[in-house]
Order: sequence, then structure tokens, then C-alpha cells
Amino acid sequence: MENTGKNFIEQIIEADLAEGKTQTICTRFPPEPNGYLHIGHAKSILLNYGLAKKYGGQFNLRFDDTNPTKEKTEFVESIKEDIAWLGADWGEHMYFASDYFDKMYECAVDLIRKGKAFVCDLTADEIREYRGTLTEPGRESPYRNRSVEENLRLFEEMKEGRYEDGTKVLRAKIDMASPNINMRDPVIYRVARMTHHNTGDKWCIYPMYDFAHPIEDAVEGVTHSICTLEFEDHRPLYDWVLIECGFKEKPTDVPRQIEFAKLYLTNVVTGKRYIKRMVDNGIVDGWTDPRLVSIAALRRRGFTPESIQMFVDLVGVSKANSSVDYRMLEYCIREDLKLKAPRVMAVTDPLRLIIDNYPEGEKELLDIENNLENPEMGTRKVPFGRELFINRDDFMVEPPKKYYRLFPGNEVRLMGAYFVKCVSYDTDENGNVTAVHCTYDPETKCGSGFAGRKVKGTIHWVYAPEAVRCQVRLFENLIDEEKGVYNEDGSLNLNPNSLTVLEDCCLEPSLAQAKPYDRFQFVRTGFFCVDAKDSTEGAPVFNQIVSLKSSFRLPTA
Ligand code: ATP
Ligand code: MG
Repeated sequence: MENTGKNFIEQIIEADLAEGKTQTICTRFPPEPNGYLHIGHAKSILLNYGLAKKYGGQFNLRFDDTNPTKEKTEFVESIKEDIAWLGADWGEHMYFASDYFDKMYECAVDLIRKGKAFVCDLTADEIREYRGTLTEPGRESPYRNRSVEENLRLFEEMKEGRYEDGTKVLRAKIDMASPNINMRDPVIYRVARMTHHNTGDKWCIYPMYDFAHPIEDAVEGVTHSICTLEFEDHRPLYDWVLIECGFKEKPTDVPRQIEFAKLYLTNVVTGKRYIKRMVDNGIVDGWTDPRLVSIAALRRRGFTPESIQMFVDLVGVSKANSSVDYRMLEYCIREDLKLKAPRVMAVTDPLRLIIDNYPEGEKELLDIENNLENPEMGTRKVPFGRELFINRDDFMVEPPKKYYRLFPGNEVRLMGAYFVKCVSYDTDENGNVTAVHCTYDPETKCGSGFAGRKVKGTIHWVYAPEAVRCQVRLFENLIDEEKGVYNEDGSLNLNPNSLTVLEDCCLEPSLAQAKPYDRFQFVRTGFFCVDAKDSTEGAPVFNQIVSLKSSFRLPTA
């Protein structure tokens, strides 16, 4: 589904380049280090990085650390790891907004000198009250007409720590009657005693996002500042700051802000706030729980950077908010792994199968293809002998119609091996089946060219004496699809079946050596990845990435 047309952001960039507004472009991804990144951020990262690459420009990673209370170094590290994993290379260009606090302070002083900013003593509540509403204009602050000298002195004193938190702010002097509430003398600096991870206790005044962000962009030479739709109404303020601080002449000059729609997924929690709640309440196993859609969780679950890129490309860039079907993400990982992942046999619910006419104590090594659809992946040796494991649901005593797997008297193919015919079965005192007895036909060895008769069913198996015992984890969505995201009391409506742990699954011996992040297709089941957190040497734990089949079809364009 290659999109031949250009998206609206590319059109803007190409026009800006053609008009000579800029010679080369620069984009940035500006995360706030207050949580792990999620699939929505991946869209923003790959969009910004992809544009820089496409137009031979520069991509900056900039930590937006202007609000020190919520920020943590742990998050800075995880964000870097996630972005690098996605393949977005910022090269030398990693910055912190706090690197520019001096510059921002200078800009604020300049605004005061120009009569474009004033120190205001109204409380936060009063400011809100004076601001007016969507239908009523605001009222001017009684402090609005302080002289430049007084403002300069008071702002200096704010910086020196002469005032309590929240008692004074610096406001831009714009227009209290503006139909855009963001332009009604917005606060641009506040007094707040917070120790900053980068600047320590140097500052007790901090710039507000709407003032800081355009300056950060301008200082770094960012040309196209791409953000999400909720900032559309803030764009006039973005431009006002840049023009009044002397960074550009008119709104359409660079740096310019461009908004696009956030990515939402159906039945998936993406908001940092909600994920944090589940992490803090122990509902999930930290930020990397494979059921989450944080990038670190997707990585742990077994998604590839390529699958996420494919997903982001399929979703495209738009101006209208909408939700994307989670199954589209699953489609992408299936497509990506189809030809890449070795296909192996794993029995998740083992039942013993004994081939009565196979010589006891004998074993042979069968050559089995690693990926039937990709012969380049070669073959491997898989042991076979008298005692095997098969999946419990591949045998039935009294099969329904159209059941072609094993039942008394029926013959099936053991994948990559021989035909076997069920002759009897053992039960325990409760009537549960404990073993299935078969006979095999040596003439039917796979690859022998045998064409004597046909069977309708093929089942997979594992050679019992060498089976690797593993834990396999199956996942469903954390949120119950049918009933909505929230309960009436505001709590999250969790799916009680989101995690199923299968102990003692039996896997081919080759899998004992599997390493964290190795991905496989378990034939007839799904794609699985070795868990990087809970696996130990020789005892891998497998996470289900996605099942093999889905009713999902790509929407045709
Ligand atoms: P959240 O809403 O999940 O808490 P955030 O917007 O507060 O996320 P930031 O660290 O501020 O997180 O975001 C960094 C960048 O990622 C911003 O440019 C933001 O616009 C973008 N972004 C955040 N969420 C999404 C999303 N769902 N889809 C696309 N881009 C997003
Ligand atoms: Mg934010």
C-alpha cells in the first residue's frame, strides 16, 4: 500500500524549501522525561526522523525538562534506548530544554524592555477568573501597566528568590480581548522552588511550555516543529514569541509549528497517566509488561522496529483524530516475521504419544525446514523416536465431524516425520487420557517421495526424551473490548484473562539455546519471543507476540 501522494506535512516542507524560507530542514522529537514512550510517540519519532532523512535534514532529540517535579533520569535513559531501537538516529543532536534557561531568561527581559511583558501579582485563581471564557473577553490585570523599570526590577527579584512560590508571575502583554484564550496575557514565567536534575538550584523561576518551546526550536535551528492537534490553538502564541523575541518576522517563517492527529489504538491504553496508574498499582509487571504498548513493552513482547515502521506508514499522517484497530499492529508484525522467524514445534499442552512399533531406545535425526516459505533459512536436525509429545487437543476419543486429527483408528501425518495411526489410548482412574498409542509406517517418511495414500490431518510433535520444558505466556488485551475502557466508578475495566501462563510446555531441543529477543513461529500457533526479563540460561520463557490467524483485513484504499 505504497502512498504515492505526499502528505500535508511534506507539502508544507517542500513549499518552504522551494520558496527559500530555509535551505535545509531540521525536525525534533521533544519528549518530557516523565514516563516511558508508547506507540503514539513512536509515530511522532518516526515521522520527525523520516522527514529529516527524506529531505537530507537534521533530527534532534530534545528533552523537554522545563517541569522538574515529574522528571526522572530513569526516563531519560529509557527514552534514549527506545528511540535508538526504533532506528531514529539523532547523531550529535541530543539536547535538553534546560540548556537554554539563560537564553529564555534573556528573551523574557527583552520582552519586558519592549513593553511586551509584565510582572503580575494576581493569584492563579484570580488570573483564571480575569481570563474570561470562550464567549466573554477577559479583563486586564491591575498590574498590567507597571513601568518597564518596575517590571525589570521585580523580575530580577523573582529570579533572586525574593518572592514565595506562586506569588508573582511574568506575563506576556498581548490582548485580553483576543478570541483565542491562549493570547490573553499568558503566563510565561513562574516562581517555583524545585531542584532541577540538570541545573540544580540555580533557578527558582521556570519558563512555561508555550514560551519555552518556540525558543528551544529557534535556538536549535529547528525549521518544522511538528506537534499534535491540541496545540493548534497555541500556534498564534508560538509565532508571537518567536516574532517578538526577534527569531523570525512573520508566522509563516521558520521555525513553524505544524499539527497532526495523535495516534490512538482501539482497546489499548496509551496515555502515560493510565499506564503509570497500572504500573504503580501493580496491575502490570512494570513499564515493560508485554501487554502494554509502551515501546519497551512492545520490544519485550517481540515486536520489531520494522513492524512498527510498517504500522506507522500504514496509518499515515492526518489532521483528524481517529482510532486505529490494534489488529493492524498485529498484522504488521505477522507480515514482518512471516519469512524471518524460524518455524519450530512447540507443544503447549502435552499429551504423550507412543509409537508401539518403533524400536525402543532408537532415535533418528530428521531434516526439517526452518521456514517452508523461505528455503534460504535452511534445515535443522530434529530428533524423533518412539515417545513423543503432541498437543492434547490434537487427540479425541470421540471426535466430532470434520475432525481430521488423531482419534482411534485414524491416521495422520506427524509434521516432517511419518504417518501414524492411532491404535489405542491409556486413561487414568478418572478416565482422563494419559497416553495415545500409534503405529507408524516407515514407508511414509517425509521427503521419501512416498505417494501411496493420503491423510487429511498433520499435527506437530516433540521428541519426549529431549523435550525442553518451558514457560509460555499468552496475552489478551488488558482492557475488555466489549465493555469499554472504564467502569462506572472510573476504574479501568480490566480483562481478567489478559495473561495466561502455561508451565511445562514441551519444545524442540534446539530452543534450549534461544536467547532473549529471539523470535520464532510455533507452528500452527503463533509467533513467540524469548522474554528478556525472566529467561535464564538454558531456560527460556516465551511471550506470545501474536497468534497466527486473524480475521483482520487491511482496509483497501
Ligand atoms: P501522553 O499524552 O501519553 O502523556 P505526552 O504528549 O504528554 O504523552 P510528551 O513527552 O510530551 O508526551 O510527548 C512528546 C511528543 O510526542 C510530543 O511532540 C507529542 O505531541 C507526541 N505525542 C504524544 N502522544 C502522541 C500520540 N498518541 N500520537 C502521536 N504523537 C504523540
Ligand atoms: Mg506532555
